[in-house]
Amino acid sequence: MHKRLSILGSTGSIGTQALDVARLNGFTVRALTANSRIDVLEEQIREFQPALAAVVEERAAADLRVRVADTGTKILSGMDGVIECARCEGVDTVLNAIVGMAGLLPTLAAIEAGREIALANKETLVAGGRLVMEAARAKGVRILPVDSEHSAIFQCLQGAPAGQRDALKRIILTASGGPFFGWTKEQLRDVTVEQALRHPNWSMGAKITIDSATMMNKGLELIEAVWLFSMPPERVDIVVHRESVVHSLIEFADNSVLAQLGVPDMRIPIQYALTYPARHPSPVGQLSLAQFGTLHFAAPDEEAFPLIGVCRRAISRGGVFPAAANAANEEANRLFREGKLRFLEIGELVEAAMEQAPDRPVYTLADIREAGERARDFVRQNVMG
Ligand code: NDP
Ligand code: MG
Repeated sequence: MHKRLSILGSTGSIGTQALDVARLNGFTVRALTANSRIDVLEEQIREFQPALAAVVEERAAADLRVRVADTGTKILSGMDGVIECARCEGVDTVLNAIVGMAGLLPTLAAIEAGREIALANKETLVAGGRLVMEAARAKGVRILPVDSEHSAIFQCLQGAPAGQRDALKRIILTASGGPFFGWTKEQLRDVTVEQALRHPNWSMGAKITIDSATMMNKGLELIEAVWLFSMPPERVDIVVHRESVVHSLIEFADNSVLAQLGVPDMRIPIQYALTYPARHPSPVGQLSLAQFGTLHFAAPDEEAFPLIGVCRRAISRGGVFPAAANAANEEANRLFREGKLRFLEIGELVEAAMEQAPDRPVYTLADIREAGERARDFVRQNVMG
């Protein structure tokens, strides 16, 4: 199966692994985007020769335009440029690997253009789940999950024929527990950025690595699962599983449970989203359960890691509460990485910002943006004060 791709956020952790998958499968890459890292993007342009590439930062885009003047790639700039790449002609699938709510408009643009979506950018669904899912339904566009847990659930669901979806009782997301599994609130008080950036099982971008340390990542994934699989939040459970071998599970009416397993390597879920329903060979190592010997499972400690509960409350209330929680977290996560906020303050500020959000059950894009801006302001003001 041959695919023509547009990869948004191609210079990041998921983006570069997606290009690995594209290279191994001989897929065509028609468009690439970055925020500012033009060194990496230049190499990618020379290798994959896309028709379009976009850089959000104008000056970096101008610089890149000069550097790749000898290639056939047209260089665009700003968010408009990224959106043009999301709509690029002659593309089958748009893989969105942008980090943060910045990925929302490109996702909507790609859906509008009728492109299939491979979605890593979970913040898109957290902030604007209803808009994204409604647009996809209206256009008949498929959204294929790239996040490993959601890919696992999607893979398990292949074992539930369409007419049997009512028999799906529960989704069980696994969580590695991050670098601070088993730590008490007291111990978490003084953790450093460096400690929080040391994830036990996955090598990922900085933002999601901090989200894993606070377990906000699992809260975001809970909301992502609600939208992707039309499940009420009370039927999405979370279990800590230290080895990241069981990527998630589904439970049926008869209490039979299906799981998807594999060594932790994002190239499996990325490739599945791009080849679905086919399975292609992959460079990822084989799973040897005997080598693992034991797999561990535990209930999450929601007192030490309150953000799972904050996200559950946000999606249960609906409206713009999840968008506010997500935006507050993007801001708090960044401030923590810049050394301006302590680890436990991330949870406190995200919770307080979420509680402050307006109760607006039916929302527009403008409502999401406004709730996001208010939540970011709230976090900034509380850090300054
Ligand atoms: P990275 O930080 O490694 O990469 C992010 C990409 O987005 C880069 O290409 C970056 O460009 C670009 N980017 C950053 N800010 C903006 C912006 N404001 N507008 C447009 N583009 C921007 O992140 P990851 O690859 O780790 O994560 C990407 C997404 O995938 C996230 O939503 C994350 O939650 C999700 N995800 C990641 C996993 C992983 O293993 N990494 C696993 C599951 C989900 P530049 O390089 O120029 O800064
Ligand atoms: Mg995940």
